[in-house]
Amino acid sequence: MFDRASVVTPGGVNSPVRAFRAVGGTPRFMVSGTGPYLTDADGREYVDLVCSWGPMILGHSHPEVLAAVQEAVARGTSFGTPGEGEVALAEEIVARIEPVEQVRLVSSGTEATMSAIRLARGFTGRAKVVKFAGCYHGHVDALLAAAGSGLATFGLPDTPGVTGATAGDTVVLPYNDLDAVRAAFAAHPGEIACVITEASPGNMGVVPPADGFNAGLKELCAADGALYISDEVMTGFRTSKAGWYGVDGVRPDLMTFGKVMGGGFPAAAFGGRGDVMAHLAPAGPVYQAGTLSGNPVATAAGLAQLRLLDDAAYAKVDAVSAELRALVGDALTKEGVAHTVSAASNMFSVFFTDRPVRNYEDAKRQDVFRFTAFFHAMLAQGVYLPPSAFESWFVSTAHDERAVERVAAALPAAARAAAEATA
Ligand code: PLP
Repeated sequence: MFDRASVVTPGGVNSPVRAFRAVGGTPRFMVSGTGPYLTDADGREYVDLVCSWGPMILGHSHPEVLAAVQEAVARGTSFGTPGEGEVALAEEIVARIEPVEQVRLVSSGTEATMSAIRLARGFTGRAKVVKFAGCYHGHVDALLAAAGSGLATFGLPDTPGVTGATAGDTVVLPYNDLDAVRAAFAAHPGEIACVITEASPGNMGVVPPADGFNAGLKELCAADGALYISDEVMTGFRTSKAGWYGVDGVRPDLMTFGKVMGGGFPAAAFGGRGDVMAHLAPAGPVYQAGTLSGNPVATAAGLAQLRLLDDAAYAKVDAVSAELRALVGDALTKEGVAHTVSAASNMFSVFFTDRPVRNYEDAKRQDVFRFTAFFHAMLAQGVYLPPSAFESWFVSTAHDERAVERVAAALPAAARAAAEATA
């Protein structure tokens, strides 16, 4: 299948990190998913610790989500008009996340961040955007400077195709460094439209904000008249009922969402302060649109998933995450492998270094070759990890004792492989 795919698709994949280039080998083509398991085209079953890069927080093929999708599909798949499902999903988002007074639905996290930045520029009449090295906000031209995720995986500092004019208004700063943010505002007073940050980064591995970092960003933005944009595409509806906002309570001007809110379908959103959102077309002059925005099947899936995500569901995901983190840490310690298990609520990743990781530079200093050996040993034993040392691992409410035991059984050999790996 990969050979076939490679003929008709660049690199054989439709999103770069799926290609296994960072770890080597042939990507698995999955044909089905049930609960915490994926099955590949050769009939092998894996415990899935990627969960479609975050969305599948209830596991695969959750019966109530599938039923909602089937019910929606039976009524038609796209109308190009307003519909009740998109209103209900918007109401659910507004009810859960207090700083979101109004929300606009889109189809991908990339669209959400791109649109939020355009709105911030339109609202403030300013051009510059501050982002942090290692934070990924989708493949928005202006934000593909020192981004994490696939770009971290490939070590690309930048990408051809993004012009100097587009990237020239982007100021890239080291993460968790408020002094650098202060200096940027001092160097560009009244020019910065917004600071965009992952609410708690997961695209350079999991690197949570230091105490007071997000609050400091908010304060510096407010003092200069810039907007504070919290990108919750990954953390939203995952790290708590109200995402990372539910964890740190720092009130953004604008927020972006994706992944979990689509229930496995393409649905994403941006929203926030009512006076800012009022600048969006057709209410205001800042243009933004989408043929499939608020698609009835995607909104049905997202709404069904969000309605199942109550306190008990988050407690379950948090508990499974804690159990797996302890198991991974113990296995690596037993083999004497230098490592740091880094967590933000139930998101976590393993850095193959025992030095503290506070930003992208720190993350890059890990022994990536040990991750590669660890990854392949886990894969060979039926555990599917993200194929990169710079990605979060994700779990779901469906990860039960049997799934955890299968991971536990695979860990000793994988830890040994990491210990024996050479650069
Ligand atoms: N923002 C963050 C924090 C993300 O993690 C991602 C994707 O991983 C995006 C934006 C882009 O979302 P999408 O892949 O849906 O375009």
